[in-house]
Amino acid sequence: MALSNLQYDEIQRQYDARQLQNQHILQKRKTQLYLKYPRLKELESLIASVSVHFARLLLDGDEQAMAQLKQTLAHYRTERAEILASAGLTDRYLEPPYTCPDCKDTGYIGSKRCHCFKQAAIDLVYTQSNIRSVLEEENFTHYSFTYYSETKKSDTTGLTYRETAQDAVRESLLFLKQFDTEFQNLFLYGDTGTGKTFLSHCIAKELLDTGHSVIYFTAFGLFEVLEKHKFEKDREASSSMQHIFDCDLLIIDDLGTELSNSFTVSQLFLCLNERILRKKSTIISTNLGIDQLSIIYSERIFSRITSSYTMLKLYCDDIRLQKRKLSNGADHSVPLQTK
Ligand SMILES: [Zn+2]
Repeated sequence: MALSNLQYDEIQRQYDARQLQNQHILQKRKTQLYLKYPRLKELESLIASVSVHFARLLLDGDEQAMAQLKQTLAHYRTERAEILASAGLTDRYLEPPYTCPDCKDTGYIGSKRCHCFKQAAIDLVYTQSNIRSVLEEENFTHYSFTYYSETKKSDTTGLTYRETAQDAVRESLLFLKQFDTEFQNLFLYGDTGTGKTFLSHCIAKELLDTGHSVIYFTAFGLFEVLEKHKFEKDREASSSMQHIFDCDLLIIDDLGTELSNSFTVSQLFLCLNERILRKKSTIISTNLGIDQLSIIYSERIFSRITSSYTMLKLYCDDIRLQKRKLSNGADHSVPLQTK
């Protein structure tokens, strides 16, 4: 999406603020640490002066002196690492606490925009930042199979609800593992409260944490954006849609709950089709059955989805109701290891 100058400024301000905050945190760490370990402060200025000296020798071309100096420098660094280790810390403690280590919170790698800039633009344009707080809670470390019955079975597959959920998680982990190499889409379906949204949040969190761009929409929100750009001139509308077509992962949650009409249905097809052509992954979750897809949307959307998506059905007694019943009891969730 073409950002306006105001939006650019806003994002740049966020980067500037983050860098400033990093410096504050680092300064605070150093002050506390140097009080307790004065030798660390000495080492910092020794390392700095050696580096300057080294630059001079480099200009003179004095290779023997340079080799000696390199040794001294290594010696200082080892001593510093040892002191830090004795305090239970690593060298990284004396580096700014970057949110994005790839660009050191500048938004650039060399002269190119960092991947985090793309996500910052998405967050700003589509007001996605609220999803971050949700993902702090809804991720694989909080995933639990205990809500899925070990006795009730699906009529179609004969698998228990628990086994079906385990399969879905296994597929999701594979989806994540192969995300950068295999183009894949997921279609999560099943009744209300079967954990479809939760699972899509788990996947979103893993991808955001590994520097991918993710846009999350409820179907209602997506169709609102599609409607909004309906009256814009073609070129503007298509540039507004750019990130929706182009982000690494698009999540469309609760398909079937939006107000659809023939225009939004054709826009939905355009969106899903464009992403398939660009080999960009999409996750759709819905309470609809597969047979309802072609009735509510269209035959071409139905065939696009069934031919390009991995279909994962979840069965469960409404988790929201189960949680409500359990709300006075202890949390029996078993954290799930993802790595
Ligand atoms: Zn970055």
